[in-house]
Amino acid sequence: AVRIRSLRRRYGAVTALDGVDLDCAAGTFTAVMGPSGSGKSTLLQCAAGLERPTSGSVAIGGTELTGLGERGLTLLRRERVGFVFQSYNLLPSLTAARNVALPLRLAGRGPSRQAVREALERVGLADRAGHRPAQLSGGQQQRVALARALVTRPAVLFADEPTGALDTSTGRHVLGLLRELVDRDGRTTVMVTHDPVAASYADRVVFLVDGAVSGELASPSAERVASRMTELEGVPC
Ligand code: ATP
Ligand code: MG
Repeated sequence: AVRIRSLRRRYGAVTALDGVDLDCAAGTFTAVMGPSGSGKSTLLQCAAGLERPTSGSVAIGGTELTGLGERGLTLLRRERVGFVFQSYNLLPSLTAARNVALPLRLAGRGPSRQAVREALERVGLADRAGHRPAQLSGGQQQRVALARALVTRPAVLFADEPTGALDTSTGRHVLGLLRELVDRDGRTTVMVTHDPVAASYADRVVFLVDGAVSGELASPSAERVASRMTELEGVPC
């Protein structure tokens, strides 16, 4: 579970997050939406321990991130958190299998062939283990990135616009996988997206405006999400 209280993050004169409260129950899939610059990426980065908040608190599985030193935070990130980026962030010189093995190496667990194979099987890419990123399609690269995020079996998976660089049908495939991982493995998942259809794969959508939560929708349909976005901003985001 993720518990966020009064979260603030300033960058100089810019207030990216202005007092966010958010709870994501274990085994649920939350989508975060909002206009460009509303603080979505900052929220995810603070929640995942990639950024330090200016004030407020974040807890993952009951562990308060703000109370951790650098070493404790690094360990928590490696062992309890998975992160997927819009741009995949795979290492180009490494094969898919070696990219997936990386978090295990960093955690000092040794690259278990079994765990790597299972993670690649999970995303339907067992037959691409020996391929380098340049030899894979965008959707396949994102699935490798997903396997890499999951290989340590993290409590929480964060994804920042995971389908932003993908075409519609490839994006749907990745979203279907995320949904399946929540349903089958009970993986708590928090995803930022601009796409109302992507948001409809989640259990609920939380709307962020000017660095604060401005409402949410349960069991969101793409139509309801799209009309709420229009209401909130008057412009699609
Ligand atoms: P988008 O939909 O375009 O990705 P976002 O909702 O993810 O936007 P953030 O990236 O969280 O928005 O940015 C929120 C605000 O904080 C913006 O005004 C941005 O310019 C500012 N900001 C974010 N990161 C930094 C940084 N490292 N240094 C300075 N300002 C930053
Ligand atoms: Mg962003």
